[in-house]
Amino acid sequence: MKFHVLTLFPDMVLGALSASVVGRAIEKGLIGVEAVDIRGFTLEKHGRVDDYPYGGGAGMLMQAQPVYDAYRHVCGDRKLRTVYLTPQGKPFSQKMAEEFSKEEELVLLCGHYEGIDERVLEEVVTDFVSIGDYVLTGGELAAMVMIDAISRLVPGVLNNEESAEAESFHNDLLEYPQYTRPYLWHGKAVPQVLLSGNHRDVAAWRLARSEERTRDARPDLFKRYCKKKQAIEDLSRRKREHIHIMEALKRGKAELLFQDGANIMVYHRECGVILMTAQDPASGEEMLEALRKDLSKGKVPFKAAWYVVSQDFLALRLQETFQARPCGTFLQACYTRREPLPVRHKDIRRLSGEGPLFLAKWEEAWKRDGIGPTDLSKAGALYGAYLDGHLAGLIGQGKDGGMGFLYVEEGSRRQGVASSLEAYLINRQLDWGWTPYCQVPAGNVPALALQEKLGLYLSGGMLQWLRGVDS
Ligand code: SAM
Repeated sequence: MKFHVLTLFPDMVLGALSASVVGRAIEKGLIGVEAVDIRGFTLEKHGRVDDYPYGGGAGMLMQAQPVYDAYRHVCGDRKLRTVYLTPQGKPFSQKMAEEFSKEEELVLLCGHYEGIDERVLEEVVTDFVSIGDYVLTGGELAAMVMIDAISRLVPGVLNNEESAEAESFHNDLLEYPQYTRPYLWHGKAVPQVLLSGNHRDVAAWRLARSEERTRDARPDLFKRYCKKKQAIEDLSRRKREHIHIMEALKRGKAELLFQDGANIMVYHRECGVILMTAQDPASGEEMLEALRKDLSKGKVPFKAAWYVVSQDFLALRLQETFQARPCGTFLQACYTRREPLPVRHKDIRRLSGEGPLFLAKWEEAWKRDGIGPTDLSKAGALYGAYLDGHLAGLIGQGKDGGMGFLYVEEGSRRQGVASSLEAYLINRQLDWGWTPYCQVPAGNVPALALQEKLGLYLSGGMLQWLRGVDS
């Protein structure tokens, strides 16, 4: 990901970002930061970039021309997403950081003095963002805050890929208290449960502390969290059918768009999919009406719309009234036990750039089936199994959080590689406190048999995937 910072103080930006995690990410080439000196573009012979505001008033304003030319220097004729840092913008949040981290390039425009001539803002800015309800002397610190928060979500920037998942704000909950050595400090001992070695007890303790902290410090977040918790509870009566919605909510990846008992519709931010379940056609109609409104208000981006529905009547109505196209029927399988599974093949690793040929085969298989992501750069994490040092198969964790994309090369089949890969991913997800699940095409008998063999429970009903008009 590349950041272009338009600023009057390029040294300030580059200096501060050269240290620590962000600095290392720049060195490794995972992110790039270019600081463009707006002053270098002024046509004024003394190098001035500011002037008095029309109509009077305190202070000076940055002029449109140098800002515009600096922007053009970066973008040429391209229309890049361009953020103006301003106290008048939308408050910056973790959710926004997640959204911006999906851009390949981002322009950050820093104001100074009393701000910037409005006319150039109208022409180049796509997003107005504030880092808080206070006024800074310039946008540079604000741009650095954004770069820091966004960069750590770019794959590979954090050494520990899980830490971004577990942190504050990921599920409308603040993080629990943490402790490190020594065990006793200033007469205070580390809570006993953390030494118990019992993952379940530790997770329960942490969740309770997170809930307490959020309730006391951030009642606004806590209210949202409670609504989601209620939705998860309502769905849990038919867990196998609804595990994909429950997990999306639990992992903090989805927004609740509609909730009326167990009639629930959520928008999965990570993969742009709308997940719906309704108990009867009348509730389904209400849900679709709510969706119509959300789409027209832009709460859900229309072109991103894929739908996953749990009932036939929803699928039918989406086809009739949203021109959605059906593209697959799946059974859902979930692993509800807490015990990890044995993994026979030990050499399984997270894949990054390796095995492109392999991934191409996988992509081909998915294209042939007409469903799923065909852009591999947008696939979630992929894990590969190596036999005698060569890549023999892989499994993926889709951006929707489900396990999938299981593929074993022709010559390495019937040796239990698929079982090992899936068991490996199940164990990994259990460590994160997730309930592993996958969606298997209804007619894929070997894949269904594999799920049963590994101890996953299959849903009674089918899930249907449909494509939105523009997706
Ligand atoms: N007159 C402006 C107003 O009232 O909106 C404030 C200008 S401020 C002194 C100068 C620059 O600092 C702004 O153009 C903006 O780029 C940056 N800035 C100040 N406070 C900010 C905040 N809370 N978030 C993001 N940027 C901020």
